[in-house]
Amino acid sequence: MSKYIYTFGDGKAEGSAAMKNLLGGKGSGLAEMNLIGIPVPPGFTITTEACNLYTKNGAESTFALIKADVEQALHQVEELTKMEFGSAENPLLVSVRSGARVSMPGMMDTILNLGLNDVSVEGLSKRTNNPRFAWDSYRRFIQMFSDIVLDMKPTTKEDIDPFEEIIESVKHAKGVKQDTELDVEDLKSLVVKYKEAVKAKTGNDFPQEPQQQLWRAIQAVFDSWNNDRAKYYRILNKIPEDWGTAVNVQAMVFGNMGNTSATGVGFTRDASTGENIFNGEYLINAQGEDVVAGIRTPQQITLIGSKRWAESQGVQEDVRKTQFPSLEESLPETYLELKNVQEKLEQHFKDMQDIEFTIQNGKLWLLQCRNGKRTGAAMVQIACDLFREGKIDEKTALKRIEPNKLDELLHPIFTPEALKTAKFVAKGLPASPGAASGQIVFFADEAKKFAQSILVRIETSPEDLEGMNIARGILTARGGMTSHAAVVARGMGKCCVCGAGALNINYKQRTLEVGGKVYAEGDWISLNGSTGDVFEGKLQTQEAQLSGDFGLIMDWAEKYTRMYVRTNADTPKDAQVARKFGAKGIGLTRTEHMFFEGERIKAMREMILASDLAGRQLALAKLLPFQRTDFEGIFEAMNGYGVTIRLLDPPLHEFVPHETAQQQELAQEMGLTLEQVKQKVHELAEFNPMLGHRGCRLGITYPEITEMQTRAIIEAALNIKAKGLDVKPEIMVPLVGNVNELEHQLKVVRKTADTVFKERNDTIHYLVGTMIEVPRACLVADSIGQIAEFFSFGTNDLTQMTLGFSRDDAGKFLPYYINNGILKVDPFQVLDRQGVGKMVELAVKNGKSTNPNLKVGICGEHGGEPSSVEFFHIVGLDYVSCSPFRVPIARVAAAIANLTHA
Ligand code: ADP
Ligand code: MG
Ligand code: MG
Repeated sequence: MSKYIYTFGDGKAEGSAAMKNLLGGKGSGLAEMNLIGIPVPPGFTITTEACNLYTKNGAESTFALIKADVEQALHQVEELTKMEFGSAENPLLVSVRSGARVSMPGMMDTILNLGLNDVSVEGLSKRTNNPRFAWDSYRRFIQMFSDIVLDMKPTTKEDIDPFEEIIESVKHAKGVKQDTELDVEDLKSLVVKYKEAVKAKTGNDFPQEPQQQLWRAIQAVFDSWNNDRAKYYRILNKIPEDWGTAVNVQAMVFGNMGNTSATGVGFTRDASTGENIFNGEYLINAQGEDVVAGIRTPQQITLIGSKRWAESQGVQEDVRKTQFPSLEESLPETYLELKNVQEKLEQHFKDMQDIEFTIQNGKLWLLQCRNGKRTGAAMVQIACDLFREGKIDEKTALKRIEPNKLDELLHPIFTPEALKTAKFVAKGLPASPGAASGQIVFFADEAKKFAQSILVRIETSPEDLEGMNIARGILTARGGMTSHAAVVARGMGKCCVCGAGALNINYKQRTLEVGGKVYAEGDWISLNGSTGDVFEGKLQTQEAQLSGDFGLIMDWAEKYTRMYVRTNADTPKDAQVARKFGAKGIGLTRTEHMFFEGERIKAMREMILASDLAGRQLALAKLLPFQRTDFEGIFEAMNGYGVTIRLLDPPLHEFVPHETAQQQELAQEMGLTLEQVKQKVHELAEFNPMLGHRGCRLGITYPEITEMQTRAIIEAALNIKAKGLDVKPEIMVPLVGNVNELEHQLKVVRKTADTVFKERNDTIHYLVGTMIEVPRACLVADSIGQIAEFFSFGTNDLTQMTLGFSRDDAGKFLPYYINNGILKVDPFQVLDRQGVGKMVELAVKNGKSTNPNLKVGICGEHGGEPSSVEFFHIVGLDYVSCSPFRVPIARVAAAIANLTHA
């Protein structure tokens, strides 16, 4: 029989850090902290397996299975705390906390102070001799339980939480700002009003029976795995549906007992910059949710953090000291204890930790630890620092890099010139770095309104996730570095400034007022997430600097990789950028892109509309010099490395005008009638152009095109060679599915090249190979391999054709497939290992069986996607090729794949 309950407490635990999959991140962290002697309130974890059983079989059978063990474990907590669950005099209160394998901030639910009712609140009050605390806990519990379990949370963006509304009106009547200013009588009357609200909304009294509270809460946490925002978060972060969440039931400790009690969140290093400095925020006399919710402005844990904060907010030192003191100042002994705990945790886990803690009457308790989320810049710096500090070796440091996150470092910042003249609007906290300009929107679901939007909110909530992802940047008026907006934005690598207190946001009027000036929806603003500055208007940006620790990571990638990385580039400029990022050659140059500009498109159209071979040759002769110049630039940028040039691929229909006015113009230029042009365009139209007259089918029916392109390539290569550079041209024939197709094109290429060699009285070594993108080519790759010198997988077309999904039409059903679990991920983004991957594997095996020297690579979009790169490593490709900005990502992904599958 499976074990579904794991207990922890008093320095012992049935679980450990190694059991993340079963116990969730939170549960395994709580267990491990117990094992290493860190003070953690006792409790137990219900496993993710139990959650999956619940999802499959429902509550009744699942709860029957775990009931006895839950009771037993609860009993153990009672013994350790010397309190009793459900007792009137000495009630044990617990929290019921969600916790999946990976953290999903704010996505799922947690309930605090469970076990309280009308009777035990009096008992708690007497026992602690702190009635204010007891009633504060009860009103909090009613709100959380009702919001989550009784579904009283507001459902539309205009509604506010019914309980928030009540507390606001009570505070207003009393003329106070903070809930800490409410006294016992206020809190008692709050409880009465809360219960009335529950009765009015649900028709039932607030549940008084602690056992019933517990099981309903457990069920609600299980259910929260499948709420909409959790589902969306999983799609966004590619988290499998079947992981499930664990449930942690844990004795409460109280940060709301008075002025020597507090709750807070900390990071062992700076999650935004990576700086090795303990930091975080806390609130005196508060419970956990207050810090993340951004209800009050949290204070800094450390003195240095507090001073930096005051400076950034323009707060004077005397004000800071009296109104916003650091924990280091307000509770110095507890602070020291916390400082030691965070050091111990980092030493133990050998990575930056994100911790949650509560102080009850001066006594410190840890409630959570995990590897902290961080920005791309912090990720790089922390990995390199931990290596330099001797805590981890370079392989481990490299494996700490999440390749996709490097993207953030490659992105622009505001130019110094733009900053000089920029009009400063306000300062907030530098919550997530980067630079972003956009038009103001005030509601997450309206982020799409503008191509570049900045989401401006008083504070964000988990419902805003989708809009946050769409917006270019996020700006909030409230909340600290650990507020929802800050944590989520860092996770997304999205620029965010939060807690800009000077902003007055009016949702109804859709305005933002600051310093007397009013900004409306649609107005442009700019955010610097690295400094917290907010500017008016749209600012110029510049590219990022790639040196220092970034360079070190790239060196390690170089050292540990087996595959190398090329780039897809159609212009000399792209080729140069990619070289800077460490690309070793070009995996794909699409020649058709060279035909669209100015004079070129005219010549191209002439070629297409020509009625005979002579006409086509005349037009092609005009295109030749353009192609040759482009190739020269690319060869020059890639000195010493291979450059794969693909022969013309798209259907010709894409090059001709489809509107009468343009057709008229073309007719005039070519001395044809409009009718003739229309007729030709009509002839070129195809029912299914992607499966039509394209790829090598063009070069086979019009060999003069292949001849011209080969000539341009070979002439350019000889010209650059003459400059003393090392040129390695590779000519790639697209869309081959049959060896005879390749054979045909091979003859044209070889003959043309020989002609040029004779004319020039010079030669150069070049390769001829094929793109593998038709399923049939994979099946007959042994015969194709006999005459091809290289294969390059075109995984875009190969995916399209293997799945039978049109890339251009899949948008109609693919999102549904993914949302409903028919497909786990978009196969055009992440290689479908089971299907398309099999094709690739088969083709490599077949090709190499007849040509052991066959060079194999991939040039589809998947070449820059880390999990696909891992697969290409496993099946033994020589290289992957991707767009220039993905090159560093692919390099690190390739090296990590090599380390992981050594
Ligand atoms: P999340 O996953 O959203 O962070 P948690 O389960 O960590 O939710 O709960 C949020 C906060 O509630 C915690 O950071 C902590 O401050 C508080 N909390 C949870 N359990 C307890 C407990 N047993 N005693 C005191 N505070 C608690
Ligand atoms: Mg937490
Ligand atoms: Mg293709």
